[in-house]
Amino acid sequence: MTQQTEPVAKSPAMTKPLEAVPLPDLERVPDYEHGFWEGTRAGELRIQRCAGCGRFRHLPTPMCPECSSLEYAWTRVSGRGFVYSFVIVRHPVHPAIREREQTPYNICVIELEEQEGLRVCSNVLHVAPEDISIDLPVRVTFVPAADDPDVVLPVFVPDTGQ
Ligand SMILES: [Zn+2]
Repeated sequence: MTQQTEPVAKSPAMTKPLEAVPLPDLERVPDYEHGFWEGTRAGELRIQRCAGCGRFRHLPTPMCPECSSLEYAWTRVSGRGFVYSFVIVRHPVHPAIREREQTPYNICVIELEEQEGLRVCSNVLHVAPEDISIDLPVRVTFVPAADDPDVVLPVFVPDTGQ
């Protein structure tokens, strides 16, 4: 007798960022963060690059942790990288996530190709949770937040190399 195994259905992929959750207040973010959000509105991922030693850094800070320089430039990066680490959230931790049935969702730490250890925290869209893995190649894309279109969120999608 041959045993039949049912194909296991995959969980739905995220298709957009979470809605009805807190967003950055662009009028209150510190000066040294504005360049990041100006970049996303322009469809560019811009990362602080130290004018003293040339190191990229993220999250934004006023001073370079390597050389203590206060000078930096917002520098466009390629937006390509890989999943360094991730978690799949299946239990809603915010009422809006439960009410809008936004689980499962993923939180991914993406390491950008420009520099070892240069990482951003985001979501990877259009891939089933079961298909997200460490080292998955990804590239950035930009989505205006549903609740405040002035806030344009950098999110990632699998990078098929095209
Ligand atoms: Zn530096």
